[in-house]
Amino acid sequence: MMIAQVLVDLPLFQTDKPFDYQIPEPWESLIEPGMRVTVPFGNRKLMGLVYHVQDTSEVNQLKAIDTLIDYTPVLNKEMMQLGEWLAGQTLCYLYTAYQTLLPAAMKANYKKVVSVQDHERLQIFHPEIAKVINGREQIAVADLEKQMADGQPSIHSAIKDGVLSEGLKITEKGSVKKQKVIQLTVDLQHIPEIIPQLNQNAKKQQLVLKFFYDNNTDHLLTSALITQTGVGRSVLRTLIDKGWLTEFEQEVYRDPYDDKSVKPTEPLSLTAEQADVFQAVYKDIIANEHHVHLCHGVTGSGKTEIYLQMIQEVLQRGKTAIVLVPEISLTPQMVERFKSRFGSDVAVMHSGLSKGEKYDEWRKIYRHEVNVVVGARSAVFAPFDNLGAIIIDEEHETSYKQEENPRYHAKDVAIVRGQYHECPVVLGSATPSLESYARGQKGNYQLSTLARRVNNQTMPEVAIVDMREELRNGNHSMFSKQLFDQLQANLEKGEQSVLFLNRRGYSTFVMCRDCGYVVECPHCDISLTFHRKYNQLKCHYCGYDQSMPETCPECDSEYIRYFGSGTQKVEEALNQLLPEARVIRMDVDTTGRKGAHEKLLNRFGSGEADILLGTQMIAKGLDFPKVTLVGVLAADAMLNLPDFRASEKTYQLLTQVGGRAGRHELKGQVVIQSYNPEHYAIQMAAEHDFFSFYQKEMAVRRQHQYSPYYFLSLITVTHSELTTVVTITENIAKHLRETLSARSMILGPVAPPIARIKDKFRYHVMIKYKYEPGLHETLKKLLNHYQDQIAKGTLSIAIDMNPYMLM
Ligand code: ADP
Ligand code: ZN
Ligand code: ZN
Repeated sequence: MMIAQVLVDLPLFQTDKPFDYQIPEPWESLIEPGMRVTVPFGNRKLMGLVYHVQDTSEVNQLKAIDTLIDYTPVLNKEMMQLGEWLAGQTLCYLYTAYQTLLPAAMKANYKKVVSVQDHERLQIFHPEIAKVINGREQIAVADLEKQMADGQPSIHSAIKDGVLSEGLKITEKGSVKKQKVIQLTVDLQHIPEIIPQLNQNAKKQQLVLKFFYDNNTDHLLTSALITQTGVGRSVLRTLIDKGWLTEFEQEVYRDPYDDKSVKPTEPLSLTAEQADVFQAVYKDIIANEHHVHLCHGVTGSGKTEIYLQMIQEVLQRGKTAIVLVPEISLTPQMVERFKSRFGSDVAVMHSGLSKGEKYDEWRKIYRHEVNVVVGARSAVFAPFDNLGAIIIDEEHETSYKQEENPRYHAKDVAIVRGQYHECPVVLGSATPSLESYARGQKGNYQLSTLARRVNNQTMPEVAIVDMREELRNGNHSMFSKQLFDQLQANLEKGEQSVLFLNRRGYSTFVMCRDCGYVVECPHCDISLTFHRKYNQLKCHYCGYDQSMPETCPECDSEYIRYFGSGTQKVEEALNQLLPEARVIRMDVDTTGRKGAHEKLLNRFGSGEADILLGTQMIAKGLDFPKVTLVGVLAADAMLNLPDFRASEKTYQLLTQVGGRAGRHELKGQVVIQSYNPEHYAIQMAAEHDFFSFYQKEMAVRRQHQYSPYYFLSLITVTHSELTTVVTITENIAKHLRETLSARSMILGPVAPPIARIKDKFRYHVMIKYKYEPGLHETLKKLLNHYQDQIAKGTLSIAIDMNPYMLM
């Protein structure tokens, strides 16, 4: 008897381990780890994942597996190991870890289908199946199984032979995309003979056939045929009835990026600096060796070009590559650079894709139809089985860290996969994270530097303006004199400017001028943000909204106004002060709709505006030749966050924003406005002096015992009653103090800066440690201890083994 160990889809502590099931006899030789099944569990049926197959079990009276969902494993050996690692690292459930490796569509409602790959061979080698399928292209597996005598084994062998292929048909409406195609039933060459045979009054019918002939094709998308010939459906209907044409539906991949407009590019010849970086990685590629390479290259130093050439080497060796870029810089511009070099060999994955689109991209990778994936964080799980390189651009970006379960960092995953595949992992950034750079200094990572921009373009000149001084001189506007003068000058010269304001709706809170009352969210301890467009106040944490009050709820004063300089407010000010300037505003409000982001950038790129005004989303990846001025309206907003990485983030952001100026022939100028102009992060960013910043910031981190000198773990306890939160957090802290080594530090319990979200109180315990081998185990036990309350949903304990969000 064969036994399958199955992980079930029931995320609880008690079920976070494999359960034994008997494998029904006909499937004994078919079932492998990584296949999904359904199993009876208690008195219900659950989805499960085969974890291990063996021939003994300690359990008497085993239940049997119900159904086999996959005929080929959806997770291979590497992925099975990776899931295990992920669960261990992040303390999530094993089943959750494995789900993270699969596209969301595979969790959604779906129907398994098989498609016929080769009708002829199906007929010869699997006549029983051919009979059931009866000429169709695709059939639901359930229907096929029902009508077959021996069911699964023969379907399995047809799939093994490549005659059938498995797929999912998502039952969500419209998630499998289909297009209607019209096919000519006669030979193309015969059209000139056929046309005279048609009724001579049927001009439109003739036109359609001639269209096929002129375009030298025997099939066309129905929609294209109709728009291009201008004939109606009835004409096509007639031709179909007469037997000249047939129409069928074709399943197509959704392609969010249109390849057709992309012009191919050739590799550029590398500069000496670029060649050095390339060589170091190339050595690993040809020797199949794993190293982590950290490429510290200033903005515009040609990192992307190096990535492209590395990938080319990887592809030439029949291998595959993953390129991670931050969500926010996954702009059409960036994607186009990869598509223009590798064409349809590239899959693109980002959060803007629908479930179905993501599933399409995943399938392309799984089926070896593409060899490169460019994507955001989760693309690190792309199911390539022969990786030749993993590249992480802007490696310092915190969006590589997932802020929900499992709380993994894509960099760690990349390194684990790089070790498995014995291939290099390349981290690139103009402003590496302190953690990575420290590893580079130590020699754990191979550090290389690109100190110059390509073509020796100088770095932009940076001026820091002291906004306190402006106030003293009577300037109450949000633009310093220098920034305003330069905006005006740029406008006159016909050059473009970028204005940057970090954080959406940057403190556009509503306050009463009489009594100081600030309108806060009734469910979260945070002020509501004003959105002028809808005249509404909104909570960015829970989504609560309300209309703008007419009078102060506290004192009834009419002088209740919104404060702060959101992007909307800056736009209004610009319209007043520089009425002739054409402004494009980019923030969450203007880019909410799909494709809006791209449209706005294209408009700016084609010179339809003089000023691009925006939030974080304009800080990265943009490359417009005519941008010569970049203004940072308030450099301090980030500096004052209660986060030990505040200085680092400020340095990174200022460098990134500054990097948008003068990337081409025209020289660039950056103006940074600040109320804190002496701060080292601002000073050193202005001087483009990364190394000095690194040294200074390392000293600060050492003094305050933070990363990279110490590892951190953050425990967030959440409950609707304040006293319960405090008690539990106290107990946790006490337990950790007793259990962990004396050299580790346990901070807390403390109330975090945002002490309440969605009506639940939050408390923190932070662990700082250098060496604590039993920590994961201790924390796992801790979760286990509170499992009943957690399962009831009243209590939540979130453990983040590498926190980036400290609020
Ligand atoms: P980074 O990714 O470091 O910001 P990019 O790869 O975007 O830099 O390069 C900046 C610009 O220089 C791009 O327009 C790119 O096409 C160009 N470039 C890069 N490498 C070369 C090269 N070897 N020769 C000429 N131009 C180059
Ligand atoms: Zn008031
Ligand atoms: Zn709220």
